[in-house]
Amino acid sequence: MRPLAILGGTFDPIHIAHLAVAWEAAELLDADVRLMPAAVPPHRPPPIADATTRVAMLRAALRGQDRLGLDTRELARGGPSYTVDTLAELRAEEGDRPIVLLLGADAFAGLPGWHRWHALFEAAHIGVLSRPGVARDWPAELAEQMVARQVADPRQLCGRPAGKIVELDVTPLDISATRIRDLLAAGRDPRYLLPEALFDDPALLAPYREHDFRERLP
Ligand code: ATP
Repeated sequence: MRPLAILGGTFDPIHIAHLAVAWEAAELLDADVRLMPAAVPPHRPPPIADATTRVAMLRAALRGQDRLGLDTRELARGGPSYTVDTLAELRAEEGDRPIVLLLGADAFAGLPGWHRWHALFEAAHIGVLSRPGVARDWPAELAEQMVARQVADPRQLCGRPAGKIVELDVTPLDISATRIRDLLAAGRDPRYLLPEALFDDPALLAPYREHDFRERLP
């Protein structure tokens, strides 16, 4: 059965590294990938663009291909969205289909801080996407999980619904939403770091251009 892979994130804004790593993961896993924007991320400050704008950016970015989809269930749910709840919901929908939670190496390193993180492995595999500047130097609790769960070949995830970890070596792209927000706030035009469609509608990037970052300082 072809896996379903999920790339969660704030996508504030979506950038070309999100698209590139999601696409490469789809190929390496022979999976359908859904991008899943988070409503109120429990682990970080609130996004600058509201949920409607972030979804509009995702829709614009994903137009014209059918391998990467969009899943807005966490926005519809409202309140804090815990990945473990979302994965349990997906598991109930997908039967025994392999589900792979895709995490950039930075997000994976923070996993032990997540709500009920051990339970994630009951509902999904984890695919760790390499990311420039993030060493594969996992905290001890994660290293332990790696010893027990890691498989070398992404295709080994196809045979079972959940419980394994695979590292996915994707093309290194040193791009982050933080850097893009900084460029936009400084009046720059980060064309080619963002999907081109985001420049077609000036309303999409307006929140970053208009945002006064001093508001966020304590
Ligand atoms: P920010 O700079 O605001 O923290 P971000 O660029 O990390 O944002 P997110 O929306 O937080 O983007 O990321 C969603 C997921 O995509 C995370 O798992 C993150 O690790 C992964 N990701 C984002 N950028 C890259 C990249 N350049 N290479 C590999 N993975 C990435």
